[in-house]
Formats: sequence, C-alpha cells, structure tokens
Amino acid sequence: QDLKNEDLKDMQELGQGNGGSVKKVQHVPSGTIMAKKIVLIDAKPSVRKQILRELQIMHDCNSQYIISFYGAYISDPNICICMEFMDKGSLDGIYKKIGPIDIDVVGKVALAVLEGLTYLYDVHRIIHRDIKPSNILCNSKGQIKICDFGVSGELINSIADTFVGTSTYMSPERIQGAQYTVKSDVWSLGISLIELALGRFPFAETSSDDSDLSDFEGTISPSQPNPLHRLPKTKEEREKAAKKNKRKSKGVSLQGGGMTMSILELLQHIVNEPAPRLTPEGRFPKQAEDFIDSCLLKDPLARLTPKDLLKHSWIEQARISTIDVEAWASTF
Ligand code: ATP
Ligand code: MG
Repeated sequence: QDLKNEDLKDMQELGQGNGGSVKKVQHVPSGTIMAKKIVLIDAKPSVRKQILRELQIMHDCNSQYIISFYGAYISDPNICICMEFMDKGSLDGIYKKIGPIDIDVVGKVALAVLEGLTYLYDVHRIIHRDIKPSNILCNSKGQIKICDFGVSGELINSIADTFVGTSTYMSPERIQGAQYTVKSDVWSLGISLIELALGRFPFAETSSDDSDLSDFEGTISPSQPNPLHRLPKTKEEREKAAKKNKRKSKGVSLQGGGMTMSILELLQHIVNEPAPRLTPEGRFPKQAEDFIDSCLLKDPLARLTPKDLLKHSWIEQARISTIDVEAWASTF
C-alpha cells in the first residue's frame, strides 16, 4: 500500500515550477500511471515528517473537482507527492498551445474551480492559496480539477515561493499583507479566467524572460505576507533595478498602454488601479463579464465566497450547458 521510490518508473518530464518538478511515472506493482511532484525542502527531518503528516489530509479529499492523492514520502532531500495524472495537462499549457479558450469552456472551468474550492473549504477548512491556470488540470475525459492546494502549513512555510516570471494572481489584500481568506482565491480565479478567455495574462504581454530577477529577490512567505517589504527597499536600489529592467527590456507591458512594469510596479498596479475586466465590451456574454467583475471586486468584504458565486447566473448556465468538454479536449 505504501508508496516507495523504487516502485515508481519515470516515464516523462511534465514540467517544472517554483517549488520543484513534476514527472509522469508508473507505479510498477499496480500498473497505475501517476504524476510525481518532487519538492526540494531545506528543513530538519522533524519538519519533513510534520509535512508528511499534514499531507495525509489529502487522502480524505475526495471530490471530482480535486486531483486525487496516492501518497507522499520522503526521498532525501526531497518530498515526493504522488497524485492523479491528468493527460491533457494544465490550462496554461493548453491555451499556450491552442490560443484563447472558448468562453463556454471557461464557464465549465469556473464551475469546476468553484466546486473544488467550496469542497475544500466546507469539508476541510482548506484555503487553496495558489489558484492559477497551471494549477487547473484537464484530462481526456473532459474532467477539470484543481491541484496544489495549501494543505500543509509547514510545507507552505518551507517553500517561500520566489518570484519567477512576471505574472501574479495575488489579490490586492494579500499584496498588502492582510489576512488570507477564501475570497483571495476568488480574485485569483477571476484573473485566471480572463487569462484563459483572452489567451494572455490580463495585466501584461509577458516578455517570457529567462529570469535574472536578482533585483527582485522578493519572496513571499506566510510569516511575512507582504512582498513589498521584501522588494528593493531604498530609492537607489529601486532606481537601479528599474534602469536595469528597462535596459534589458524585461518587465511587462501594460495592456494597451505600451508601458512596461516591473514586478514591483505590477503589485502596485494591482493595489492602486481598477481591476482588469473581460474586454473588449460586447465580445463575451454579459453574464460572464458580470461574473468576472464580481470575482475582481477589490474590497474583499464586498467580494463573494466561492459558495455564493456558485449561485451566479453564469455558473448556473455553465452547469446546464451542453458544451462537450471531452470533445473539446480531443482537439489538442
Ligand atoms: P508554480 O511552481 O509556480 O506553482 P506550476 O504550477 O507550473 O508553477 P508545478 O506545480 O511544479 O509548477 O507543475 C509543473 C507542471 O507540471 C504544471 O504546469 C503542469 O503542466 C504539470 N502537472 C502538474 N501536476 C500534474 C498532474 N497531476 N498531471 C499532469 N500534469 C501535471
Ligand atoms: Mg502547480
């Protein structure tokens, strides 16, 4: 029953993220295909064991909208997490391959994510904390499921995620260091849905950069939730960083504006400017526009919870929609 490294045969590299890498593997004794996530953790053995204990909660997470969990083990110095393999991969990979995703499919994605978030919160009091297209997976049966949720407080503490790339799905209140709630996930969902429908990150024309973000060595950890505190601090440092950024033309272009932003500016933009919207006006159904607007209310008190948003008319429509996600998934 217990998973061991020796029983898993590597098949294919699936991708790499901030925290580690993911491989398609076969569990030889049972023949089961799995996705194995390898997370490098720089922590004491006692902390690793604690993480492993906390991860066991995933055994109790049973929902068609949540990736199933096969088990986790320590393989020094890594922790390996084995989960359900989703053969169509993550939605970021999908839209980068096929372009903007049909709004009716995006509706099904919204429904699945809201159901998954509601399950996690109502049944287990878990807040996801990392909703984004790379953590929403699809398979050839047309199922849509979420992965990489924050089950283990110790794991969250151990991998302070460094900024890589130029996108962030963080809500204004999180950027400002306020308490993280289930509504912060709703903001991240809103940003993700615009990204899927437009086929690009809503704040930016990403300049897929080969990250020399040494000037932006911001890390975000729950103990220090305000990333602005970790960004270049002095005026001089900021100017130097901005200059360097300009020179290498890194940073991101603001939608339409033709202006470039560093990560710091992006974070400030999220806090200070009106939230992005599903545009251009009239291209998408009114109800979809309205749903995204309510996900992206900047005041977390005004923003609804995933459970409340399940009652939104666009979601009710998505629920009864006859769009065939399985057929859609067979086209790529
Ligand atoms: P970050 O580390 O910033 O969260 P990420 O989500 O892309 O980024 P990982 O979680 O390490 O990073 O995942 C890397 C890639 O592996 C994902 O983009 C996804 O395409 C793929 N992947 C992850 N889990 C699975 C799975 N269960 N089945 C199939 N592919 C997966
Ligand atoms: Mg991930």
